[in-house]
Amino acid sequence: MNRPITIGVSACLLGEHVRYDGGHKHNRNITDVLGKDFNFVPVCPEVKCGLPTPREVMRLEGDSVAPRLMTCHTRLDLTGQMLDFCSIKMRELERENICGFIFKERSPSCGLKAVPLFEGAAPELFTVGLFAHEVVRCFPSLPLEEAERLNNPQIRSNFIEWVIRYHRNRYVYE
Ligand code: SF4
Repeated sequence: MNRPITIGVSACLLGEHVRYDGGHKHNRNITDVLGKDFNFVPVCPEVKCGLPTPREVMRLEGDSVAPRLMTCHTRLDLTGQMLDFCSIKMRELERENICGFIFKERSPSCGLKAVPLFEGAAPELFTVGLFAHEVVRCFPSLPLEEAERLNNPQIRSNFIEWVIRYHRNRYVYE
């Protein structure tokens, strides 16, 4: 059976107004180029875990093995709320047969690498966003990329091929 190829995407990259400031980060290389080949499953983990838009700025703090998602001014620890959402969402993504995921870089929830991790006022280390970390853990061979890198035509082309190969290996011969 031939299935459409579906990939997950951080919702702000598709133009949804879900960012902390009520804005978006629409990336036309995703919607206009990858959109020709793939269906999208938009996910904003911060909104879907129950936070409002606009909302207070957050950051990752503490231990790199188990970072905490903290609001910067009111000092609320949202780690449990985010991880509860993630455990439900991973099962949904499995049912949706996603064949890749594109993340918004540097987000404490969605960043795939180089997300600042704070011990004090300045970032000490760089880590992975909480939601992105759960996607990596639950789908270890899934094609993954950050949106900014897809502005490079060669990286974009490699990602498209990677997703198609993953889809073919998993679903085309079912
Ligand atoms: S980076 Fe992730 S959590 Fe932040 S607005 Fe975009 S989709 Fe939502």
